[in-house]
Amino acid sequence: MLEAWRWVEALGVRIVDGNLGELNGAYLHDHRTILMDLNLAPVQYHSTLMHELGHAFHDHDRTTPRNEWEASQWVARALIRGCEYEALIKVFECPQSIAFEMGVLPRDVVNYQQWRETVVRSPGWSESAENSC
Ligand SMILES: [Zn+2]
Repeated sequence: MLEAWRWVEALGVRIVDGNLGELNGAYLHDHRTILMDLNLAPVQYHSTLMHELGHAFHDHDRTTPRNEWEASQWVARALIRGCEYEALIKVFECPQSIAFEMGVLPRDVVNYQQWRETVVRSPGWSESAENSC
């Protein structure tokens, strides 16, 4: 959670916890506020908070498929270190096992895998820089 609170401070956003019903979290750009459902399990709360921080990082002011993709990629890169992923992918085949070992949600691992597949194919990508721990 330390990573998340650093981003909260760096981005100057306010966190409001409450009972959101079916919503896990939401980012209100005009108020620089993140609403969080306090009924979430700790790992889900952390991943959701980081997702909403991804929206704040990118200054998203509305929900679009592209904005959701950007926030999801941002949180995956923030929570998953390349060297840890490389070590775990040699041992485990499924995202659920890797997620459990890393203390993140399976969706974060899947988003990280998708991001890696995108950047590995792009020119100028440095595996050594990405895998540094
Ligand atoms: Zn979102």
